[in-house]
Amino acid sequence: MAKIAINIATGSLQQDEMIVGIDLGTTNSLVAIIHPESKMPVALKEYDSSSLVPSVVHFDTNGSVVVGAEAKKFLLSDPARTIFSAKRLMGKTYSDVKGNAASLAYKIIDDENRLVKVQVGGQFYSPVDLSSLILKELKKQAEHILKTPVSKAVITVPAYFNDAQRQATRDAGKLAGLDVLRIINEPTAASLAYGFGLHKDEHKTIAVYDLGGGTFDISILNISNGIFEVLSTNGDTYLGGDDLDNAVVDHWIKKYELSGTGNEDTHRRVLRLKAEEAKKELSSGERYESGYEGKELSLAKEEFESLIRPIIDRTITSCTNALKDAGIEKTAINEVVMVGGSTRVPLVKKMVSDFFGRQVNDSVNPDEVVALGAAIQADILAGNTKDVLLLDVTPLSLGLETMGGLMDVLLPRNSKIPTKAARQYTTYKDGQSGMKISVFQGERDMVKDNRRLAEFNLTGIPAMPAGLPKVEVSFLINADGILVVKAKELRSGIEQSIEVKPQYGLTDEDVERMLLDSMTHAKEDMDARALTEAKTEAEQLLQTTEKFIQRNFKELTPQELQDTSLAMQALQLSLDMNDKNLVQAKTEELNAVSRPYAERLMDEAIQKTMKGNKIDQV
Ligand code: AMP
Repeated sequence: MAKIAINIATGSLQQDEMIVGIDLGTTNSLVAIIHPESKMPVALKEYDSSSLVPSVVHFDTNGSVVVGAEAKKFLLSDPARTIFSAKRLMGKTYSDVKGNAASLAYKIIDDENRLVKVQVGGQFYSPVDLSSLILKELKKQAEHILKTPVSKAVITVPAYFNDAQRQATRDAGKLAGLDVLRIINEPTAASLAYGFGLHKDEHKTIAVYDLGGGTFDISILNISNGIFEVLSTNGDTYLGGDDLDNAVVDHWIKKYELSGTGNEDTHRRVLRLKAEEAKKELSSGERYESGYEGKELSLAKEEFESLIRPIIDRTITSCTNALKDAGIEKTAINEVVMVGGSTRVPLVKKMVSDFFGRQVNDSVNPDEVVALGAAIQADILAGNTKDVLLLDVTPLSLGLETMGGLMDVLLPRNSKIPTKAARQYTTYKDGQSGMKISVFQGERDMVKDNRRLAEFNLTGIPAMPAGLPKVEVSFLINADGILVVKAKELRSGIEQSIEVKPQYGLTDEDVERMLLDSMTHAKEDMDARALTEAKTEAEQLLQTTEKFIQRNFKELTPQELQDTSLAMQALQLSLDMNDKNLVQAKTEELNAVSRPYAERLMDEAIQKTMKGNKIDQV
C-alpha cells in the first residue's frame, strides 16, 4: 500500500499549473477546481449562469458548431443536427446500441461490427469526436473564467465503463487539446468530495449510489485516515433518467392512443421533453398536467411510480451484487450518498433507503459532486493535497481466450488498481512457433459473451517439444483503469515483442490523423471495410472448424459431420458473393452447427489441453 501511495502522490507537475476536474456527463458536463484561497473544491461558472453545460452539440448547415445551452435550443427545432447523450455511444458498436437507436432523434450509421458513428448531413462523427467538442467548449469556458490556459485535466467516467469506453474518453480529451492526467470513476470522485469534509480520524464504510441521465453506478468504499478504498463497484451503462422518460412516453402513447398521429419521430421527441418535464415536476409535486395535439396529457405521482418501479428495482439488484462482492452486509454501511440528477426522484430515495434500512444522504449537490471530486484528484496529482489517497478497483474481469472459447480470468473484477497479474502458458504442438492470444473483458464463462479488447500474435518461439516453452502473459492496469498487456517467452530468455492490436480505442497516430482529417469518412469505405472484416472472420472460422474436425473426427456423429460440411460449403460459396450480410449469416449458420458439439467436447478438450494451461496454435 505504501508503494501505491508514493506512486499516486508523485506528481512531477509544477504547483502553479492549473489542473481542472471535469465531469463529462451524459446530460450535463462541468468543470471544477480547488479554489486557490479557500482550498475548497468549487464548480466553475460565469457570474450569471449555471455551472452545468448541457452535453449537447449542434451542427449548423453552414458548418458552424455550437455546444451547451445554445445547442440545446435546437433539440426540437433541428433534432437531426443536434446530438445529445453521445456518452451513451462511447466505445460501442452499432450492434451494442441498435436497441436504443430508435429513441435517438439523430441518425446512427447502420454498421453492425464497427464503432458507432453519427451522421449529420454528409458528415460522420464518432462519439469521441462529439465528446471532444464538448470538452473543447468546457476548456474554452474554463479559460475564460480563470483567465489562464487550461491544458491538464482529470476526467470522470462511470465506474462501470469498460476499457474501450475509458480509451474513448481519453481520446476525446486528447482531441480537445487536453492532457488527461487521470481517468477516475464517478462514484469514487463523489466519495472524495463527500469525504473531503470528514475528519481524518473518522472511519466510514459508505455506499455511493449514482443514477444520472444515462448510466447507473453503485460503489462501496472504506474511508479511513484519508485513504479512500473502493471495495466493489457494480452498475449498468444503460440505465438512467432517460429510461424513466421513455417509460412515461410509452405509457402516454398507449394511454392516449397517440401513435400514428403524424410524424412518429417528431411526436416522440416532443413527448420525451414533456415526460422529462413531468418527471421533474413530480419530484416535488403530486400531479403533472399539460396538453398535446388537442388532448389533455396528465401523470399522477402514483402512476409515474408504478411505471418506474421496475427500472429502479434493477438498480437495487446491482446494490445487492456490490455488497456481495465487497463481502459485507447492508448493516455495515454507515452512509448512503446519493449522486446524479435522477436521485432527486422521491421513489428512488425511498427504495434505496428501504433497501439499506437507513436514511440516505442527499445533502451533497448531486449535479456538482462528481466534478468537485475530480478537482480534488487533480489537486492530489498537482502535489498540493498530500494526505488523501485513492485506491480504486477495476469493474470488469480481464482474461484470455483458451481452448473451446473459454475465458481464463487473470484479473477478476474489483481488483485494486493499479495492479498486475501474470500467468504462464505453453504450446500445444511440437515445434509450435506462434501463439494467438486474445484478450477479453467481461464476466461470462465463454469469451463469445464477453468483449474482445485486443489480439496478440506471439511469433518466433524457438522450436521446442510441445509443453516446454514458457510464455508469460502479463496484464497491467494503470491508475486510469486502462490495460497494458505484455508477453515473453521465459525459457529461451528471449523477450518477445508483441504486437497488440486493440480493436477499440485509438493510438496516438490515429488521433493525430483524425485531427488532420476532416473527421469524415465515406460510407462506401466503411461498407468495404465491413465486408473485408466479415470475410476475414469467415475464413478464420473455416480454418478453425477444419482443424477442429480433423482433431476430433472420432468424437463426432455422421450427422454432425455432414451438417458441418454443408455449412462450410455454403460459407465458402458466400465469400465470392461480396455481400456482407450473406457472409455474416452463413458464418452464424456454421457457428450454430458447430457450437453444440464444440461445447459438448469442451470438457474433454479443457482437461486434455489445459493441464499445462496450453493455448491453441495460431
Ligand atoms: P446527470 O447525468 O447526473 O446530470 O443527471 C441528469 C438526469 O437527472 C436527467 O435524466 C434529468 O432528467 C434528471 N433530473 C434532473 N433534475 C431532476 C429532478 N428534479 N427530478 C428528477 N430527475 C431530474
